[in-house]
Amino acid sequence: MIELKTPREIEEIARAGGIIGALFREIERSVVAGESTLGLDRFAEEFIRSHPGAVPVFKGLYGFPGSLCTSINEEVVHGIPSDERILRDGDIISIDVGVKLDGWCSDSARTFPVGEVSPEREHLLSVTREALDRAVEAAVPGAHVGDIGHAVEKVVEGTGFSIVRDLVGHGIGRKVHEDPQVPNRGRPGAGLELREGMVLAIEPMIAVGSYRTRTLKDNWTVVTADGSPAAHFEHTVALTADGPRILTAEQSRVGTG
Ligand code: MG
Ligand code: MG
Repeated sequence: MIELKTPREIEEIARAGGIIGALFREIERSVVAGESTLGLDRFAEEFIRSHPGAVPVFKGLYGFPGSLCTSINEEVVHGIPSDERILRDGDIISIDVGVKLDGWCSDSARTFPVGEVSPEREHLLSVTREALDRAVEAAVPGAHVGDIGHAVEKVVEGTGFSIVRDLVGHGIGRKVHEDPQVPNRGRPGAGLELREGMVLAIEPMIAVGSYRTRTLKDNWTVVTADGSPAAHFEHTVALTADGPRILTAEQSRVGTG
C-alpha cells in the first residue's frame, strides 16, 4: 500500500533529510586515504545522535550492524563498516545513510572519490550523479514510475556502463522501505502513476562493467559479479504540486525553512 504524505509530514521527512545533507558536508573531509570505514561510521553515528531525537535508522535494520553502509570500489551497496577496511588513494566509496527523526525517515547515498581517482571512475561518478538528477526531475505527479527508470537509462545509454538491476528505489516515510518499488530501468508512461504526496527514495546504482551482482559471505555486501567498480547516488524526494522536492539536499540547513 502506498501512503501519501501531507505537506506537514513532508516537512518532518525534510527535517530528517536535512541531517543527512549536513552529515555529507561534514563527512567529506574524513573521506581520505588512511581512514577506516568504521571510523566514518562512528563519526556519522555521533553526528546523527547529536541532533535531539535523531537516530541512524540502518543500525539494527534487518540486523545490519552499522549506521552507514560503506561500499568501496566493486562493492555496490550494503558494505559493513570495519576497522580493517582502510581507504586508499584512487578508491571510490559509496556512503549510504538513513536517519529517523521524530518517527520519520530519510535515506540518501553518495559516492565519494578518495584522493585522485582514474578518469573512468571520475566518469562513473558524474554519470551516476546525473542519472539521479534526471530521475528526480522525472518524478512529478501525473508521470509514471517507468519515467523515472527511463530517465536513468537515457543518461547511462552510450556510456558503456550498466544499470544494476537487482536493487531498486522505494517509497519512504514512517518506515525506510515502503511501497512502491522504484526500478532504475523503465519505459516512459509505464507502471504506477505518480501522485502528489508520494515520497520516494530514488537511487541509481551504476557499474562500469556488467549489471550482474552477487552477495558476499557476510550476507550483506553486494558486489559486481565481474569486480568492476560501481557508484550509487540517492535522494529522498517528495512529489509536490510544484514538482519534485529533494529532502536530502546537501545545501539544506537543519532546523530552518
Ligand atoms: Mg539508501
Ligand atoms: Mg534507499
